[in-house]
Amino acid sequence: MLNLLRRITQEVAAAESLSEALDIIVRRVRRTMRTEVCSVYLVDPNSKEYLLMATRGLTLDVAGSASLKPNEGLVSLVGRRAEPVNLEDAQKHPDFHLLQGTGEERYKSFLGVPIIHHREVLGVLVVQHEERRCFDEGEEAFLITLSAQLASIIFHAEATDAMAVFNKSKEVAHTDLRYKGIPGSTGVAIGTGVVVYPPADLNAIPDRATDNPQHEIDSFRQALEGARADIRKASSRLSLHLSSDEKELFDVYLKILDDNTIAVEVENKIKAGNWAQGALRQVFLAHIAQFNMMDDSYLRERASDIRDLGCRILSHLQEDSPNTASRFSEPAIVIGEELTASMLGEIPLDKIKGLVSVMGSGNSHVAILARAMGIPTVMGAMDLPYAQLDKKSMIIDGYSGKVFTNPSQKMIDSYQQVVDEQKILEEEFLTLKDLPCETKDGHRMSLFVNTGLSADIGLSLDRGAEGIGLYRTEVPFMVRERFPTEKEQEQIYRQQLEGFAPAPVTMRTLDIGGDKALPYFSIEEENPFLGWRGIRVTLDHTEIFLGQIRAMIKASSGLHNLKIMLPMISNVAEVEEAQSLIRRSFMEVKEEGYDVVMPEVGVMIEVPAAVYQVKVLASIVDFMSVGSNDLTQYLLAVDRNNSRVADLYSSFHPAVLHALRNIVAEVKHEGIGLSVCGEMAGDPMGAILLMAMGYDTLSMSSTNLPKVKAVIRNINAAQANDMLDQVMSVVHADAVIQTMTRLMREADIERLVKPSNTNQSVH
Ligand code: PEP
Ligand code: MG
Repeated sequence: MLNLLRRITQEVAAAESLSEALDIIVRRVRRTMRTEVCSVYLVDPNSKEYLLMATRGLTLDVAGSASLKPNEGLVSLVGRRAEPVNLEDAQKHPDFHLLQGTGEERYKSFLGVPIIHHREVLGVLVVQHEERRCFDEGEEAFLITLSAQLASIIFHAEATDAMAVFNKSKEVAHTDLRYKGIPGSTGVAIGTGVVVYPPADLNAIPDRATDNPQHEIDSFRQALEGARADIRKASSRLSLHLSSDEKELFDVYLKILDDNTIAVEVENKIKAGNWAQGALRQVFLAHIAQFNMMDDSYLRERASDIRDLGCRILSHLQEDSPNTASRFSEPAIVIGEELTASMLGEIPLDKIKGLVSVMGSGNSHVAILARAMGIPTVMGAMDLPYAQLDKKSMIIDGYSGKVFTNPSQKMIDSYQQVVDEQKILEEEFLTLKDLPCETKDGHRMSLFVNTGLSADIGLSLDRGAEGIGLYRTEVPFMVRERFPTEKEQEQIYRQQLEGFAPAPVTMRTLDIGGDKALPYFSIEEENPFLGWRGIRVTLDHTEIFLGQIRAMIKASSGLHNLKIMLPMISNVAEVEEAQSLIRRSFMEVKEEGYDVVMPEVGVMIEVPAAVYQVKVLASIVDFMSVGSNDLTQYLLAVDRNNSRVADLYSSFHPAVLHALRNIVAEVKHEGIGLSVCGEMAGDPMGAILLMAMGYDTLSMSSTNLPKVKAVIRNINAAQANDMLDQVMSVVHADAVIQTMTRLMREADIERLVKPSNTNQSVH
């Protein structure tokens, strides 16, 4: 059974179009379940009617033309109830509606199961029999399982098909195709897409039209020859160490490459208009899928050999292709299956208009970087047919997390208004630079910035930051090919400390692991956010920790504005151990003759264990900063990087709000500094609530700082306290946000948060 399910799913996934995918489904299901009819009905998003899209058993020529109204027939009943309907004699059911001309009148038994993707019914999968009998439990379970597995494939095929139809026909009807993602960084970008991808990753290669097929064919042939040479070399290098069986593997590889079939297939795809890398992806993925479907486990294993060969040829092809940076002659919207910080590092900043990542969510580190740089970003756009979006016109709406492809002029005009309003608002914010951050009734707040890039320093000072509340030291580690030396680190840290002196600069020790990987220090774990992360890594590698601490302390020589912060603290021992290493480094640096003072040492409160031990932690450190991003993730047990559960991730969840308020209550009178440096602090709604809770220092991206200052300068502390009182009794995260939106509108500060036009442009 499992094998059957897997085979059908893989075959459907490898289909090149929606109609092919649906045809495979009805054919395979009818054969496997030995039914007389199998049909797929899909919901038309506009009319909400159920269209018969594919069938085996019913009269064929009606496929695509027969439909059922939203309340008509058993198919729509399955859709409305979003659960299976299993009937011995369908025609006796009051909802039965005969689809004229399909020959359906012959069939008595009926089993329909919904096809559901992200809580939405996409359609219904139906099997029918002439014989009057109920389908048994096993049959029903099989169809439910299959439908659940196929839903996302069907959804993607629908989205990709719509795009492909547009690409071919340029039909007006296919303008404004809309894809839903997650807001990553506010703002709107209107422009052309450029798809970026990690090297030698077959799956990530986009389709791209070529106007010089001969050149592409020549590059492909060269790459193929390069891959052959690699294998011959590897085979002779290892020949002494391998048994004859193992050596045969290389011969198999060479045979696959020498066999003309694959090469001819790739060249045909190139002649049909795709560039060499896209053609290679199409052909190899289809072969990999075929091998995956084989019954014989030995043959199935060969899929990974084919993938390996495909990647080899690809890496040769990529040797010749222009590097990422040179593809950006004009500013563009950068699209990737999984954008990473290091990918961004390869593109000149002034060439990035916006970002779209298929994977990841609003709290992924790449989204945090995007916010720091003020780049409109949509994350987790899982249904976007991104491989087809190279050089395509598009709009991204970072407020609502939507992407529109092939936008109509009307849509462009509407969003252009948003861009214009945004600009006016930003200019208004700049006038606040030298004004204090205080409420209308004089309650003073301190606004600090979160930094990571050197470019952040100038921007932050221009926007009136009072210091650095969080310097993410992992950023300079990420954009290198090895650990930076102590000297290199000292120079980088010095820029931050000097740029802000005499204002304080809080440097966080290396916080890698989770979704922050260093290209040269890979951490492969089943459960990375609960694994080797932050302080756990650096205490296990004291050479890295001590080098970093010494570099920080030396960099602060003569400036005396350094504070050191420890990430991911989950117990007291970690703090004690780190403090002792910091003291040791300080003594060493001092003995070397540097003009330094012992820096303040603080911890991040971002793990529930630290919340429950916050008082004892407060008694041994100099300051604390709440990392609301991770605290939300760990309190709610929601991976901050997983787009599937992004709807559940909210720092406005009542559990998070109560934890945040408890922290202030416990620590307020301990005489140490307390701030919040998670993204919530840079969200005007979050900033108001945190201020009312009693936090008086907030640290945020420099992009958000003027907005937060504007909001705080436009309310009274009493108003903020009243807002907090109202939301603390609310029990749903969504309701907290709705309540705050209403209260902010009533207080006339909503206008400062987002351009008024965003609501009307977003349909
Ligand atoms: C946090 O977790 O809130 C935080 C500020 O740290 P980071 O986002 O870098 O994990
Ligand atoms: Mg964190």
